[in-house]
Amino acid sequence: MYPAAFEYVAVGSFAEASEQLARAAGEGKLLSGGCSLIPLMKLRLAEPRLLIDLNRVPGAAGIIAQAGEIRIGALAREADVEASALLAASWPILVDTSAVIADPLVRNMGTIGGNIAHADPANDHPATMLALGARFVLSGAAGTREVAAADFFQDLFGTALGEDEVLTEIRIAAPGPGTGSAYVKYERQVGDFAVAAVAAVVVVADSRIRSARLALTNAGPVPLRAEAAEAALVGVRVDDGAALDEAAALAGDGIQPWADLRGGSAYKVDLARGLAGRAVQCAVQRALAYGAVAGAAPGGRR
Ligand SMILES: Cc1cc2nc3c(=O)[nH]c(=O)nc-3n(C[C@H](O)[C@H](O)[C@H](O)COP(=O)(O)OP(=O)(O)OC[C@H]3O[C@@H](n4cnc5c(N)ncnc54)[C@H](O)[C@@H]3O)c2cc1C
Repeated sequence: MYPAAFEYVAVGSFAEASEQLARAAGEGKLLSGGCSLIPLMKLRLAEPRLLIDLNRVPGAAGIIAQAGEIRIGALAREADVEASALLAASWPILVDTSAVIADPLVRNMGTIGGNIAHADPANDHPATMLALGARFVLSGAAGTREVAAADFFQDLFGTALGEDEVLTEIRIAAPGPGTGSAYVKYERQVGDFAVAAVAAVVVVADSRIRSARLALTNAGPVPLRAEAAEAALVGVRVDDGAALDEAAALAGDGIQPWADLRGGSAYKVDLARGLAGRAVQCAVQRALAYGAVAGAAPGGRR
């Protein structure tokens, strides 16, 4: 099907994008990679009167380390995230995540900002952002504000973005010593959305887990923290694989993923339990290999 008729404008700045959103009064849509928006328009599930193209905003796709943070421009493509040496050395969970999104065609066009702003519970970045404690820079007529990932994802496809706001940047604290991270996804076939997936960030010291943050993809209308598993992991010896798996498996407690073509609810809970163990073990291995000593070697994967 063809999309409904719309006006198109390519903007040269985020401020201009925000002005256009305000002008459209709720009937405008930002266009980044178009991987989610264009299919929705073709199905006429989205019928924006004005399409506001962000792709010509200069400097909006950088991936840099600055002020103790990793900063990722909203227009960074999944392929850029996947290939980033900085992210491989700091937060490889982001490389893991981008690498399992769809296929190379989508990853060449789709942006990290679009993936987050779309807030599909099946999208992969939201859980990773939650596990990382990421903050999102939102820019609108009233100025710029930072919103934590935990406050950003509010409901099914619902976010904290105001009507005239643009997601401009993702900010994540640089990893401290002993940090490891990983994202593990189970998909029916390459290129599919997750049946279930788990994001894990751990801090290891003296051969034990000191802190853990786990988040689940597609386990509810928004990405979910697995707090029982996080608490149970603290203090577990990193060489005790069975204990790590047992603690991580609590990620399946209290969740009720909906049944769909990808599987039943109980099956998805079981998957989440198993994937949590794999994500934690991978994060631990990365922490031990490169991050367990204060001031891990630059260039090492965490
Ligand atoms: C075949 C296929 C397979 C897919 N598989 C996966 C998968 O496995 N995992 C996964 O996570 N995703 C998957 N997706 C979804 C898709 O990759 C992402 O949702 C998409 O990349 C979103 O980014 P985009 O830049 O294309 O956003 P767009 O499609 O341009 O925009 C998506 C939405 O976000 C809004 N938006 C875009 N940029 C901004 C911004 N900077 N600020 C505020 N709002 C903004 C738009 O207005 C729109 O509502 C798949 C998509 C396809 C077509």
